[in-house]
Amino acid sequence: MPIANCWLLPCYNLSLMFTRPPGFTYKNDELHCDGLAINKLAKKFGTPLYLYSATAIRERYRVLEGAFHHVKHTLCYSVKANSNLSILRLLAGMGAGFDIVSGGELERVRRAHKKSLSKVVFSGVGKTADELRLALRSGILLFNVESEGELELLAACAAELRKVADIALRVNPDVPAETHPYISTGLREHKFGVPMSSARELCRRAAQHKYLRVAGVSLHIGSQIGDVTPFHLAMERAVDLALELLADGHKIRFIDAGGGLGISYNSSAPIEFNDLAHRYEEAITEPLLRMKKPIPHLLLEPGRSIIAPAGALITRVLYLKRNGNKRFTIVDAAMNDLIRPSLYQARHEITPVNLVKGRSERVQSDIAGPVCESGDFLARDAILPAVAQGENLCILDAGAYGMSLASNYNSRPRSAEVLVDGTRARLIRRRETMKDLLQQEAACL
Ligand SMILES: *Cc1c(COP(=O)(O)O)cnc(C)c1O
Repeated sequence: MPIANCWLLPCYNLSLMFTRPPGFTYKNDELHCDGLAINKLAKKFGTPLYLYSATAIRERYRVLEGAFHHVKHTLCYSVKANSNLSILRLLAGMGAGFDIVSGGELERVRRAHKKSLSKVVFSGVGKTADELRLALRSGILLFNVESEGELELLAACAAELRKVADIALRVNPDVPAETHPYISTGLREHKFGVPMSSARELCRRAAQHKYLRVAGVSLHIGSQIGDVTPFHLAMERAVDLALELLADGHKIRFIDAGGGLGISYNSSAPIEFNDLAHRYEEAITEPLLRMKKPIPHLLLEPGRSIIAPAGALITRVLYLKRNGNKRFTIVDAAMNDLIRPSLYQARHEITPVNLVKGRSERVQSDIAGPVCESGDFLARDAILPAVAQGENLCILDAGAYGMSLASNYNSRPRSAEVLVDGTRARLIRRRETMKDLLQQEAACL
């Protein structure tokens, strides 16, 4: 039975019509993650708790993989969306490459699956010399270079190590993508990439360096993009540039279309993923297939679209309170565990783990955590069944940019993470302790 929608819709039974990916479903009125009852997991591992469904991760990966089966491609999972080692290893085992944005993420890939280092693309506007050297020594696939300064520094590091670096300029295609301003990246005014107009000249200069090889064109226009048109526009520009670069004598072997495919955070407006993946594939490959053979190898950097719906944050109701007319459900998870609602005004669906028969009353309240900030909320004006103190709630679609953005604000140890595969639950990150938090510090004087 598909998940109940307890937010936005007055009646959550309506949601029985909607389908969600496997992973979080009710059985006998109790929410399960894959084959395991969430209340039991919460009891065993404590709350707040991040839960991931291995089945859902595999399914999402396969759908994307399947959509692009007729073009040479590699899905380079974007590590920053969720960088847990077990999740990286699961994806590496399915053939994924990785998109990284720091030396730290490179070390995670090495630890998770060393052989996958050769399938790593390195993005980011602020790579340091140490990070570039680390990546050169690791033999990664491609450097997505974002400025002239980076080009020069990479050339120097590569010469020092006598290692040839394959590079793609990350261009800024100047296409608007309808998403939250903080996660839009493909406009001229954003810090990312180099302008299309200077790309040819920069590539000409790069080619003069003995240890740099211009091997591709790359772009990434933003995140949580639900309409495929911007991807198509951006790809057209990338292909135009690739053709110019080929004419200039560069061997363009890769086109990196970035990530950014969105998901539905609202089960009353579901997106059929198979269908979206196919529309996305058409938008991206239509310009690509206009190129003469051999068609460059397509790189994609999906993060959210694979991992977001495969994860949830489980939290326990601590208190129910009322200030004037406003009601609050105070839970044990907070903005330090999941910052998306506070940072991006993101709306996550929240549902009780138990569907209690006969509980028909709906209550509107803010779901807020213990952190001392008014901006600390997980949902504003959520409409839920009247839950009781001690019950567990499930914050859905929290697999991406959840744990990876978690902090220790208010000296709160970060949650445990559990990966459920069928009827097996594995602790993939233990809950932090106060000892973990304090050990880097000294109480001087
Ligand atoms: C964040 C990021 C991605 C992943 O974006 P999603 O929206 O999670 O798919 C891909 N590429 C680059 C360069 C990024 O910065």
